[in-house]
Formats: sequence, structure tokens, C-alpha cells
Amino acid sequence: MSVIDPVELAAELIRCPSVTPQDEGALGLVAARLERLGFACHRLVFDDPGSEPIANLYARYGSGRPNLCFAGHTDVVPPGPPESWSFAPFAGESRDGALCGRGAVDMKGAIGAFIAAAGRFLAARGDGFAGSISLLITGDEEGVAVNGTRKVLEWLRARGETLDAAVVGEPTSAEALGDMIKIGRRGSMTGRLVVEGVQGHVAYPHLADNAAHRLVALLSALTAGPLDAGTEHFQPSSLQITTIDIGNPATNVVPGEARATFNIRFNDRWSSDALKAWVAERLAAIGARYRLDWAVSGESFLVPPGPVSDCLAAAIAAVTGRTPELGTTGGTSDARFIQACCPVAEFGLVGHTMHQADERVPLADLAQLALIYEAFLDRFFATGGIASLRSQ
Ligand SMILES: [Zn+2]
Repeated sequence: MSVIDPVELAAELIRCPSVTPQDEGALGLVAARLERLGFACHRLVFDDPGSEPIANLYARYGSGRPNLCFAGHTDVVPPGPPESWSFAPFAGESRDGALCGRGAVDMKGAIGAFIAAAGRFLAARGDGFAGSISLLITGDEEGVAVNGTRKVLEWLRARGETLDAAVVGEPTSAEALGDMIKIGRRGSMTGRLVVEGVQGHVAYPHLADNAAHRLVALLSALTAGPLDAGTEHFQPSSLQITTIDIGNPATNVVPGEARATFNIRFNDRWSSDALKAWVAERLAAIGARYRLDWAVSGESFLVPPGPVSDCLAAAIAAVTGRTPELGTTGGTSDARFIQACCPVAEFGLVGHTMHQADERVPLADLAQLALIYEAFLDRFFATGGIASLRSQ
């Protein structure tokens, strides 16, 4: 069985400029490596009307249970202005002990590390391995995520294929590799508020109804106090106003319409419906004619500590000596779709430079991450790990 170097594979992936929705050969590269290890690969292209066609990959080694799935994405965010980078974002060079380029941290590095780990695990286990290892790799995580993980999960369900547990390779470490596993994520929703008043002359305000004044009062009501104080595994929920737009060029006209947008990141104390009701109540208490459109990008979720996070924590401790915090901070991820199918935890590199110019990862971290994933596979497939999962 071929030995895979995580740094080399990650570098090759970085050289595919796979900015969502482009693939540029990234998934083909992953599939070729996995086929060499004995995985059966399914390339899945989904193209819902009205959205870009997206390439995805589901690969599986073995046919037994449990089926442990590593989930990730090969797409990356755009590099932005080239002059803000001190190296070429898609060259995949190593310099000063770090692998440099867009996707090094989020998350081509983790994909390289997991495939290297799976190769070593299967080489050591030989033919005695009775479970399955699968990979669900999407090209649509950084974009709208319509034709990605969610569609692959539907495809798996239709085939009667079961995932028993999953690890998502997002960059969850905060300061040092292994200091944080994520066991849930906050929900996210955006409200677009349009307040209607009556336009008029500023010198005759009694004949007008100032939409700006009403908007300010409504927004004050929404931001007057905290939504909650946090819960056992979550930070407090937070409502942030992101823009206020009146667009009135005249100094002598009372505006008849005013708009604002706000985003709420919410913990497991809330559902999006409960928050909609909370906001409606606050706005009603002030009073105004308004329209409010909501876009919910994800509900909050929590996977209580269990076999996946336990095995990950033990593997991290064995390789790094660190005890990871079980966190729920940060933005949303595809774990929000997977948690509806099976227990999931997220673990990957230190996220400092993700989505930034000069994204890079220490070579030592990539090597250690591969060791952690390998130690995780060992623990997960050891009799105790499986038994504890089945008893769930
Ligand atoms: Zn990511």
C-alpha cells in the first residue's frame, strides 16, 4: 500500500485553485489517492436549477459497520487582492517551516492529513479490518452549500447507506493544535427590516412620520439587553446590527423609509422560530409600520460529549499532551447537516490564518494532525469504541 505524505498531498491540492464553485481537479486528486488505497469512489455532481453545478465525492473502504466518515471540503474562499499576499496563493510552496497557500488551513491540510492517516491505519490493520472508513468531500462548503454535503447525505440515504459516526476536519484549534474540538455550533439568522413612515419637509414634522426615528427606536429595543447569559456549552447569543440604510441625500426632507439588517448568532436556548417571535414582540412594543424578512442559515445544535469526541480527545492527548476544550464557537459548518444523521465532532488545524491573506500552516502541525487522526482511527475501531457507540 502506498505511503501518503500529508504535506505533499495538501500542497498538490493547494495548486488546484478551487475557489467555490470551481473544482480545478481537486476532487480528482483526492479520488486518485483514495482509489490507490482501495476506496470505492463515487463522484457526485448536483445542479439544482438556479444554482451552480457542484462536484462532490463519496469514497468508502470496506462494507462492514461501523462506518466512520471524515467530512470536509476542497473548495476555498477567493484569495482577494494579490498584493496583500507575500507569496503566490495557489503555488503550494513550503517556506520557513510552513505550507503556504489558500486552503492550507481551511481545509486542504486536514484532508491531506486524514488520507495519510487512513493509509497508515489500513496498512497496519491489514485484512483484519471489519469496519468501514468513508470520506464525504464537497466542493460547496464556502458558498451557498446547496449542492454539497446536504445533497450527498440525501444520496446516501436513498442508497440505504449509513454513516455511524463522523469527524469534520474544519480548523477548530484556537491557539495550539489540539486545544479545541467542536461539539456543536451556534445557529445563524439574518433579519432585513424596512420601516415605513411618511416623507415630508423637515420644517413641518407634524405633517410627516420620520422613518429614521422609528428605525432607531426599533433597533434600540432589539439591542437593549442580552438575549441570554449563555448555556453549559455555548457563549451568550448575540444580535449584531450589520447595516443601517436611509440613503437620503436631502437635509430638508424627512425620510419616508429606512432599512436595517441584523444578524443573530444563537445558542441551544433558542430556535429560529422562537427568536422570530421574540423580535416581533420587541418591535410591537415600540410600534411602527414595518416589513421584516428572515433568512435562517442554520439552527444551533449540540452533540453531547460521547464516543466520537471521547476518542478524539484521547487521541489528541496521546499525540500532543493537550486536553481539548469541547467548544461551540465560530461560524457554521457542514456539521449542521451531518448531526441529523449520526454523532459528529469537528477537529482540525489552528484557524488563525483561515480566510486571510498569507494563509499557512506549520509543517509540524500537519504531521501531528495526521498522527492524531491515525490515533483516533485506532481508538474508534478498537472494540471498546465500537461497543460504546452501539450502546448509544
Ligand atoms: Zn472550512
